This record gives sequence, structure tokens and C-alpha cells, in this order.
Amino acid sequence: MNRRNRIAVVGAGLGGLTCAAFLQREGFTVTVYEQAPAFSRIGAGIILSANVMKVLRRLGIERSLLETGIRPDAFVSRAWNTGETLYELTLDAASEQRFGGPYINVHRGDLHAVLATAVRSGTIAFGHGLAGLQREGQAIRLVFENGARQDADIVIGADGIRSKVRDILLGAEPPRFTGRVAQRAIFPTERLRGHTIRDCTKWWGADRHLLAYFMTRRRDEVYLMGSVPAAAWESEELSLPCPREEFVASFAHFHPDIRRVVEAATEVTVWPICDRERHDCWSGGRIVLLGDACHPVRPYMAAGGAMAVEDAAVLSRCLATIGDDDPADAFQCYEATRVARVGEVQRISIENSWMHGPTETDWFFCYDACLAPLTRPS
Ligand SMILES: Cc1cc2nc3c(=O)[nH]c(=O)nc-3n(C[C@H](O)[C@H](O)[C@H](O)COP(=O)(O)OP(=O)(O)OC[C@H]3O[C@@H](n4cnc5c(N)ncnc54)[C@H](O)[C@@H]3O)c2cc1C
Repeated sequence: MNRRNRIAVVGAGLGGLTCAAFLQREGFTVTVYEQAPAFSRIGAGIILSANVMKVLRRLGIERSLLETGIRPDAFVSRAWNTGETLYELTLDAASEQRFGGPYINVHRGDLHAVLATAVRSGTIAFGHGLAGLQREGQAIRLVFENGARQDADIVIGADGIRSKVRDILLGAEPPRFTGRVAQRAIFPTERLRGHTIRDCTKWWGADRHLLAYFMTRRRDEVYLMGSVPAAAWESEELSLPCPREEFVASFAHFHPDIRRVVEAATEVTVWPICDRERHDCWSGGRIVLLGDACHPVRPYMAAGGAMAVEDAAVLSRCLATIGDDDPADAFQCYEATRVARVGEVQRISIENSWMHGPTETDWFFCYDACLAPLTRPS
């Protein structure tokens, strides 16, 4: 691929920033256009498994993430009623050796702050919500809601589940509400008043579940994410405040060990859980999608962000290694390399079975998107 190509990445999320950082290291000129005026510290944590950490290591940010987040000593699954341990995946030096990297839990805001250091200063144009794309000779003109216009040779849509780039490429279609919402809370550990919890536990109920973990190595911040049934999501907002009593009521029948944690929550937010029907076409012409823009997954395997980061690594490898000026071959190689793995993650995420009981995890955690063979379409 000709390094003179100007690449526009739409969206400064996990996938967009990772992709921009790799492409800059390959010598491309990259600008990231982000609709938000600045990064904000939204109230949520994220799990970064070894397959993600291996990729981020190549960007030189693994150490900062280890200093910010926590390496839990295990991922534990427990039954909502008896509290019985259904499965425990030990996370230690041996697992890190086997998976090729650590497993960490971190605050999303902290992750973003670290990730932003992986791109050159001035790369991100905040306040640039994409409104449209126009063909301009061989180039593509990006038209923004703020009236600005910029030309690029390649456009990467990393603009999340409500992707504008996807709308333009594949036709506008709202995401699918899955009939569930996520209730999220973060609070200081001291609110547990001495009640001790494990580093990372998923409590499995019949029609709902609750994930509880520390987000910092000091274990001073607790994150809760409950998934509960909901008839509809009628708001245009990405999230809404949730009355604390509603959250407590959602898990009032759960085991006392976790009820005490739920009761410690003060501020709670509620988010719709959406995905899309699987669609394996991720590119057209000089436009390509990655992450939630092309394959949003339900958050039950903690893998949507992981897929965005892996996509970013593979797409940048394809663009860097597959020559000539037309990116179609690189895009096809990217799709051929990624679709099967992402499809399996989508399937498991819908099933919500990951690590409920004994689970073969090596295929997921051991994968290295920077080294995995690239698949040339036949
Ligand atoms: C409750 C919940 C828990 C989750 N937990 C985990 C987890 O533990 N681990 C994990 O790996 N994944 C998890 N996920 C999934 C993960 O959050 C997403 O899959 C991931 O953020 C997708 O990354 P992305 O870069 O594709 O998109 P995003 O992170 O959504 O980033 C998209 C970016 O594009 C910007 N944007 C949108 N539209 C425009 C526009 N028109 N113009 C310019 N910019 C635009 C947005 O502002 C945003 O910054 C969870 C998801 C949910 C809902």
C-alpha cells in the first residue's frame, strides 16, 4: 500500500485509536475524527484479556495499563442462589505464560487516557461528528456536522454500534435491542465496610447476571455490571440514570455475598444492550469498517472491545503489507482473516455461556492478532 495514502479514521474509540497508532507506526498519514468534544470518564470498567494486551504491548502501553488497572487473581463464576463456585480460571504467572499476556480489569476512562498516548499528538480532531461521505475523484470527502470538510484516500469507520460510516456503506438500519439492559455502578471499596470480595466474579442467575470486579491494582474502586431483562429502550440517549432502588431490587433475590455489594452502590446508570444481525461484508471501495461498526457483540464474553482491537491490528497489517494503490485486496484479506473468529465470538456472546462452567479458553486468549497468519481470499 502506498504510504502517501491519507487515512481518515472515524471514531476515537478502542478500535479507532489502536488502528491509527499501528498505521502511524507503518508510516501512514492518519487523522482520527471524533464526534465528542473531549474524552470523558464514563462510569464503566472493561476487561482486557491476554489477546488484547498482546496487541497493546506492541504500542508500548502495556506497562501503563498494568500500573492503572488490576491483574485479578482469578475469574470466578458463582451460582446466584447457593453461591456455589461453578468455575474458576486462575490468573497467575503460569496463565500469563500460557496465554502470552496478562488479563486486566481497568476503568474505561483510564484505558482511553493511556490509549490516547499511543497516537502522535494532534492526531485526534475532536468535535468532528461525521455527517456524510462524498466521492471526490479518487479521494473521499468527509463532511462533518460542524461544517468542516476533509479529503482522504481511505476511510476507516470505527464509529461504534451506531456507525454513520456503516449507514453509508450498507444502508441505514438501527441496532437491534436485545431485550436486556445493563445496570452499571462504580463506587469506592470502603463502601463495602469490610465485606470482602474476590477480584472478579460473575454471578449467574436464571434470567440475569451480575459481574463484580475491582478496577485498580489498589483495589479501591469496585465496578458492577448487571444484565437484566427489559421490555424496550425508548430513549435516544446512550445511557440514563437508574434509580439505585431499581438496581438493588433487580438482585434482591441473589446470594447475600453479592447483595451486600449491590447495596453499596450509590449512583447507577442503565444502558441498552444492542447488537446487529451478523453481516460479513465490512468494506466497499475505499471504505472499511472495524469493531462495533461492523460486528457489535453482546457484552457477555467481555469481548467486543477485544474484537475491535484485534481488527485494528489485522487491518493495519493488511494495509501495510498488501501493495498497490487500491485497498480492496487489503480489505478482503482483513475480512477473510477476521470473519470466522468474530463470528464465533458473536455466537458465544449471544449464548452467554463463556466461563459459566469449565471452558476451553486457549483459542481466545492465546490468539495474537499481530502474528496470526493473514488469510488471502481464494
Ligand atoms: C455493558 C457493556 C460492557 C462491556 N464490557 C466489555 C469488556 O469487558 N471487554 C470488552 O472487550 N468489551 C466490552 N464491551 C464491548 C465494548 O465496549 C465495545 O465492543 C467496544 O467499545 C467497541 O469499540 P469500537 O472502537 O468499535 O467502538 P466504540 O468504543 O463505541 O467507539 C466509537 C467511537 O466513535 C465515535 N463516533 C460515533 N459516531 C461518530 C461519528 N458520526 N463521527 C465521529 N465519531 C463518531 C464515538 O463517540 C466513539 O468515541 C462491553 C459493552 C457493553 C455495552
